[in-house]
Amino acid sequence: MQRVAFIGLGRMGHGMASRYLEAGFKVSVWNRSEGKARDLVARGAQWATSPEDAAIDADAVVTMVADDEASRAVWLASDGAAAAMKAGALAIECSTVSYQHALDMARELRGRGLIYIDCPVTGLPDAAAAGKLTLLVGADAPDLEKARPYLEPIGQTIRHFGPVGSGTVYKLINNLMGAIQIAGMAEGLAIAEQAGLDMKLVLEAVESGVAASPQVIRHSRRMVARNFEGATFTAALRRKDAAYAVALAESLLGSIPLMGRAAVESYDRAQAHAPDDDEGRMIEIVSRPK
Ligand code: NAP
Repeated sequence: MQRVAFIGLGRMGHGMASRYLEAGFKVSVWNRSEGKARDLVARGAQWATSPEDAAIDADAVVTMVADDEASRAVWLASDGAAAAMKAGALAIECSTVSYQHALDMARELRGRGLIYIDCPVTGLPDAAAAGKLTLLVGADAPDLEKARPYLEPIGQTIRHFGPVGSGTVYKLINNLMGAIQIAGMAEGLAIAEQAGLDMKLVLEAVESGVAASPQVIRHSRRMVARNFEGATFTAALRRKDAAYAVALAESLLGSIPLMGRAAVESYDRAQAHAPDDDEGRMIEIVSRPK
């Protein structure tokens, strides 16, 4: 039986780990806070005392943690997964990390005889739990073929962008464009409210007009209703992704990425306001108090 170690059981990771159980893999799990693993353990996952413990005998280790710092810790700390992985095992990074981090990890883990691929994802937690994520892969083609059996349980679509790091490049531009759209939409809706427009009509017009996108449609009604229940993507994570994208833009474009910087500054404020709440609360930053 194929053995997977899954590390990071947050909004996304919990559902992804569950998919491996449903697909019949032998699964060991670790999360910084143990409580999030309880139901998975009740369903047959093995609780590990550390990422290192989880990785013992694993054919693939899959990580889904917050950021570069968390990723470095779970792979490379003294009790990190890399300490226990067998030569030739797959190290699959699904977290959204910076481009430089993906390259650094590839170098470090390859140096230990492991196969590293960057595999950030698009899709919300419900898609994660249903195995319907889109996987944005950076890997040499033979490595992707080795990884494919471990990607199919979690992803409906696999997009292979090129060598290691390229999946992360796409993920970062995707989320930067999202950050800009969300911040722009918050500002537009706040202006319309303050001007006294009929917001029902504004929403109808936005959703059927040229400014609409899945991102805009996902957030516009919730923003106008100030309904931020059931956060799927937090202000802190959006800010992190936009900042990683701006660092990449600075290294590639050789000019100041104006829109990206504005988005990071907007999300600095949203993060300070409500870091662990829905990113749509951006509208509260730009609105006058009601
Ligand atoms: P989340 O619910 O906040 O979960 C974050 C996970 O990272 C938790 O397991 C957390 O452990 C762990 N973590 C944070 N800091 C850590 C550290 N220093 N050491 C070890 N573990 C640490 O976030 P999420 O929404 O699942 O997102 C996870 C990743 O997926 C992020 O990179 C995010 O950008 C990306 N992503 C999210 C979505 C989405 O819709 N939510 C969509 C696509 C991609 P604890 O449980 O102990 O806090």
